[in-house]
Amino acid sequence: MIPSNYRPSRVVIDLDCVKHNVREEIKRLDESKELFAVVKANGYGHGAVETAQAALDAGASGLCVSNLDEALELRQANINGPILVLGYVNSAYIEIAAKNQITVTATNLEWLKEVNERIQSPISIHLKIDTGMGRIGLRTEEEMLGAKNILDKQPLIDFEGIFTHFSKADSKDESHLNLQQERFSKALDIFGREMKYIHTSNSATALWHGAWESNLVRYGDALYGMNPSGNELESPFELKQALTLETEIIHIKQLEKGEKVGYGATYETSGNEWIGTLPIGYADGLIRRYQGFEVLVSGKKAPIVGRVCMDQCMIRLEEELPVGTKVTIFGHNQERFNSVQSGAEYVGTINYEVTCGLTDRLPRVYRENGSEVLDK
Ligand SMILES: *Cc1c(COP(=O)(O)O)cnc(C)c1O
Repeated sequence: MIPSNYRPSRVVIDLDCVKHNVREEIKRLDESKELFAVVKANGYGHGAVETAQAALDAGASGLCVSNLDEALELRQANINGPILVLGYVNSAYIEIAAKNQITVTATNLEWLKEVNERIQSPISIHLKIDTGMGRIGLRTEEEMLGAKNILDKQPLIDFEGIFTHFSKADSKDESHLNLQQERFSKALDIFGREMKYIHTSNSATALWHGAWESNLVRYGDALYGMNPSGNELESPFELKQALTLETEIIHIKQLEKGEKVGYGATYETSGNEWIGTLPIGYADGLIRRYQGFEVLVSGKKAPIVGRVCMDQCMIRLEEELPVGTKVTIFGHNQERFNSVQSGAEYVGTINYEVTCGLTDRLPRVYRENGSEVLDK
């Protein structure tokens, strides 16, 4: 889907917030530790290339993505730092990764065996250990010994890193985290601790558990200024939400008492009411469950009334306002602020899913050093 640039609905990304969130985390790390910015899924919907560049400018030493296409997008944008693919890359494409200096993840022993046969050029690999996420990675000692055998013998593989992913680092309950740490220590006993990168920290681990046994933080949600725990744990420093979702009133009218609004006629006015129409709907990621959510207009709250349509939705206003009045769905509007988290809670999900769900129809506009960047 192409972005709709002639429509006033847009996502504004403040790259100064991204930089702040990177710098604050780097300050807490000792000098031997690095931060890789996780910009998978188009930078959690914020734009991968722009957020990657901002993170690198602020001191991140590399980037993580989820697949080979995302890594190549960064290379094509002339981003030269280390790029680690955290997810699965079919071994048939190993040469493409190698030629583009993209580091790939070994997801299991079978994959390593295939790469061992197919490989023609030097490639850096990080070995994934599944310590209790149950997703990808080596689990058994037998598999690990098989992997070690290949890694010791194959000169084209640079065994650059070993890592695991914690499934419950965003919680007060640390029992599963402790089990995962124990298992990872056992894996390190097999492979040794000599590789360049040993990493276990996503945002939540970095914020609340220190970069345990780890010299690299994989920094995702907090990069964008969101709290990976939702509201369960308080961030040790201020996370600044980089994303604003805004639009404008494109139509306004006063309805008399007893009139209906939207598909299904689910909303009925209870008196004379000013109803504004916004050019944004579920095809933009503003899903139907946002019915009733309060957006911000002229520093005041205005509820979405009636069902959210594909391309439009309606809000109730306290007074007549001109067409063109700015409406903030997430972000600051005068004294008020709508967090992405508040939207996530309203629709029953996590902040990650809200920003990833904003579709390509919304143009991404960037702010940097306090003003809008025109050529990004
Ligand atoms: C997405 C991802 C991260 C980043 O997680 P956040 O919670 O967004 O910081 C880190 N590591 C792996 C393996 C991931 O898939």
